[in-house]
Amino acid sequence: MPERDDARRAARGSLPAARELPLFAELPELARQVPWRPLAHAPTPVVPCAAIEGYLGRGGVWTKRDDRISPLYGGNKVRRFEFLLADAERRGARTLVTVGGLASTQVTATAIFGRALGFAVTAVLFDQPVTRFARRALLADAESGAALVHGGGYATTALRALRAHGRADRPYFILPGASSALPCLGYVDAMLELAEQVRRGEAPRPDRIVVPTGTGGTVAGLALGAAMLGWPTTIVGVRITERIASNRAVVRYEIGSMMRYLARRAPRFTRRRLPDVRFEIDPRAVGPGYGAPTPASIAAIPEVERLIGVPGEVTYSGKALAALREIGRERPGETILLWQTLSSARAAADAAPVGPEALPPAFARFFEGDVAA
Ligand SMILES: *Cc1c(COP(=O)(O)O)cnc(C)c1O
Repeated sequence: MPERDDARRAARGSLPAARELPLFAELPELARQVPWRPLAHAPTPVVPCAAIEGYLGRGGVWTKRDDRISPLYGGNKVRRFEFLLADAERRGARTLVTVGGLASTQVTATAIFGRALGFAVTAVLFDQPVTRFARRALLADAESGAALVHGGGYATTALRALRAHGRADRPYFILPGASSALPCLGYVDAMLELAEQVRRGEAPRPDRIVVPTGTGGTVAGLALGAAMLGWPTTIVGVRITERIASNRAVVRYEIGSMMRYLARRAPRFTRRRLPDVRFEIDPRAVGPGYGAPTPASIAAIPEVERLIGVPGEVTYSGKALAALREIGRERPGETILLWQTLSSARAAADAAPVGPEALPPAFARFFEGDVAA
């Protein structure tokens, strides 16, 4: 398919040159042992966001614009994929096989960056509430040239993913959320990046960082990074999925596995005594569950658009903003930083050059009728 090849060449052209990772500067032994390749345009800007209506704080609200981390696709998966896809390349993989919900950003990131790097991509998608955002995600997945398989419920999705893995040429499996120790180093590095910006006077050191949390990998990376810096900053994960999947124990486990990963490779890390890691999980915004629209998250959609220039959605950005409002009310004197985790590069895909017919017939029903958000 020549158009697809053209699209892939153009995508490759949007990949950035290499950059110095603050994490590798801090622990130079890592650079030789840890797979990494550039995908992100970083540092991402950190800017004040006075535009949030109804926010009552005096300390001010800032935002870290990871939504703009790549012109191909932004958001918080990109820093992880710099490690993950480098690992896939190092292992000689040809096909990335992954699983996620219909609206999964991790699936979209796998599809877009995987294809840009020349991998074949197969994604098995489980059902979740259908929103406009989910439709845009499906079209972006299809447009990238990934092979999409409808998984249905969790059990059939797991079976179909196993089958896809069995059939794939030199497969590399990416778990839902892509949140193991290696990729999550991307958010340890992101925290060190923010510290450099604070040192340069681009923003004050935040008392609290608010970020939507699913698998907890972003919170874990940021909290470990803050501990390495000796900052008293608390990372607040706004829970956007069920408590069984997203809780303090999961985040603590992830921090522990990153610490072991670093200690095995960087003696300097082992010798350091870390202060306590500070994080909280805020459950107030999640509502009935993952991807489920709530009145507050629906109301936040246009506010997200004022903030990052593209419509928000109810799963992540809407719930994070709804929680931020509460947190700001409760802590009016604090400096709060909202970490933007949603892409603003791709959301214009309402005008995606492919339509629902680019997807396998099993997905047609997700494009029928109106949706709530
Ligand atoms: C994946 C994702 C999250 C959750 O990140 P975790 O590290 O899995 O907790 C939050 N916001 C957006 C937009 C995401 O795509």
